Amino acid sequence: MTEQQRGISIIGSTGSIGTQCLDIVRRHPERLRVVALSANRSIDLLVSQAYEFSPEVVAVADESKFAELQKKLQGTGIQVLEGEEGVCRCATLPKADIVLGAATGVAGLKSVLSALTAGKALALANKETLVAAGDLAMEAARAHGATIIPVDSEHSAVFQCLEDGGINNVEKILLTASGGPFWNSAPHMLDKITPQEALKHPNWDMGPKVTIDSATMMNKGLEVIEAYWLFGLTEKQIDIVVHPQSIIHSMVLFKDGSVKAQLSLPDMRLPIQYALSYPDRWSLPEGRIDWTRPQSLEFHPPDLKKFPCLRLAMEALEAGGNASAVLNAANEAAVDLFLKEKLSFMGIPHMIERALSELSGPVLSTYEEVVHVDQLTRRYVLDAAGRNTFTL
Ligand code: MG
Repeated sequence: MTEQQRGISIIGSTGSIGTQCLDIVRRHPERLRVVALSANRSIDLLVSQAYEFSPEVVAVADESKFAELQKKLQGTGIQVLEGEEGVCRCATLPKADIVLGAATGVAGLKSVLSALTAGKALALANKETLVAAGDLAMEAARAHGATIIPVDSEHSAVFQCLEDGGINNVEKILLTASGGPFWNSAPHMLDKITPQEALKHPNWDMGPKVTIDSATMMNKGLEVIEAYWLFGLTEKQIDIVVHPQSIIHSMVLFKDGSVKAQLSLPDMRLPIQYALSYPDRWSLPEGRIDWTRPQSLEFHPPDLKKFPCLRLAMEALEAGGNASAVLNAANEAAVDLFLKEKLSFMGIPHMIERALSELSGPVLSTYEEVVHVDQLTRRYVLDAAGRNTFTL
């Protein structure tokens, strides 16, 4: 590794964010060097990434895949690890200057907390960890001098707008939402939506979990909670604006009435790269807005009736206690059931609402408590769906 190169460890290297991050590394070999890669279970892609980028360590979370991974990387000199512990080792590797937290769901929580406890610069793409355990994560960052740079495009936009303003000058942040594929659908049509229809997002190319979350608009709800923790604002200082073109990625309203916005074509490589290049900006030649062409940008208020997930997330944030962790777990479990065609589209918010009313409890102050509530909630959702108590 040369002195100019920053060592990067990628948690979730085979997913949508992970592969786009490696695309950036490919373009900036003089600036970035991969020191660790980890994936949940996609061994074949992980192996080809390992051969291309020669990291020091590779880990697979799913222990049943370990022997195969080890065999395929035999003779390369790469250390091969397994399980949650192996992934956490990647997140704390001394040579990792930046850790990209790009695992999906609360399964990535331990590695995110490990990176923060090791005082790393964390490029955070995993919003679920802040939703389920925002308090713990922010406290770990404070205690160990770790920095969190958001990768989520909206939060990256706010972060970029704040660069010369500072959070103390902010009146509000305005998170933009595309509205997803069903923004214009009639409300009575929503329950007939199939996973195939919900997986087609009009603007963004993303992994399946976040694409379904965009369709229910839970994604925006999770992002409100994410913003609450990242920027240290009150609930009332975070607004949602539906902006179907996805050109403005979020805005900041300052105390003097001035609004700053970050605009670009919807391409996740920009916020990923910015999290790695910050405070510099590196070239990214593709994707320029064509300002010579007539076009309009629209703005609408969010529709909390048609998209109850949004309301549920805002209520969970306001309720405090364990509500955000329950919301997140119920959503992950319900989305999984929807993708397996065992729950209808509108069954997702119904299930979450029921879990929130049944499982409310006090603030979760340890990792173990978060995991306990997460598992309890998932079991509750599976049981309720299994008993077929939803006539939806
Ligand atoms: Mg986003």
